[in-house]
Amino acid sequence: MGLFAPPRRLFSCTPSRLGTYEDCPRRYRYVYVDRPAPRRGPPWAHNSLGASVHSALKNWFGLAAPERTTAALPRLLRATWVREGYRDDEQEQQAFQRALGWLETYVEGLDPAAEPLGVERTVGAPTTVLALSGRVDRIDEVGDELVIVDYKTGRRDLNGDDARGSRALALYAYAAERMFRRRCRRVELHHLPTGTVATHEHTEESLARHLRRAEQTAQDVIDAEEAVAAGADPDVAFPTTPGPICSWCDFRRTCPAGAAAPEREPWAAIERPSESAPEG
Ligand code: SF4
Repeated sequence: MGLFAPPRRLFSCTPSRLGTYEDCPRRYRYVYVDRPAPRRGPPWAHNSLGASVHSALKNWFGLAAPERTTAALPRLLRATWVREGYRDDEQEQQAFQRALGWLETYVEGLDPAAEPLGVERTVGAPTTVLALSGRVDRIDEVGDELVIVDYKTGRRDLNGDDARGSRALALYAYAAERMFRRRCRRVELHHLPTGTVATHEHTEESLARHLRRAEQTAQDVIDAEEAVAAGADPDVAFPTTPGPICSWCDFRRTCPAGAAAPEREPWAAIERPSESAPEG
């Protein structure tokens, strides 16, 4: 390469995009590469439930502090309730009441006067390979430091290993620290169904480890895309990785490997505790 060769372009990505490739390269291709993109399956009730709860919490923090009460929650939840994916009105109504209960318990434990640094805040930072960006549910200030908060609404209880292992949370902490020029090492998963908080305190080394893996994933994506551009078979460059996630995959009906996976009803994850869908 010559002395004045142009620098390599950074790979623009979100943690979710990298996670999609790590879960299954074929799914990554369906979501980000193939155009037109293959048709997705029907919407999932658990995604609707999660999105509704996230929006209600965002809008609760958007109220003036004196209005941040539990009494405000039914109106907020109704205003942004996502109806898709439920079996019928009765199931949807039960889900609404369940979500309202989670939210009421959750906000009772919050200080309405405390202003987070950010709510659904986009953070971004470059590395030598990546132009990272992503939206964080909440960024709290504790003393001089920042804390990354992620809300979870899935069935499965979460623990410190989940917080430690979350690539997304680590990348958000990395980006927030650079963006706000304040130390950000603590990451928290707030599980609304159980009211529990799973936390992890990252070190410089653990953040660097997550970053290295993210960069390696990005490099794998770049290699696959370049191979296809050079004439490789896209099915080989983006292989399938069949497993339990296929049952929850939006492209199960397009993907040859997905056809073998048992089909789930769109509402299965909110109806049956044993059928826990992967959380984003
Ligand atoms: S059905 Fe399974 S193998 Fe196919 S794209 Fe989805 S996750 Fe990947």
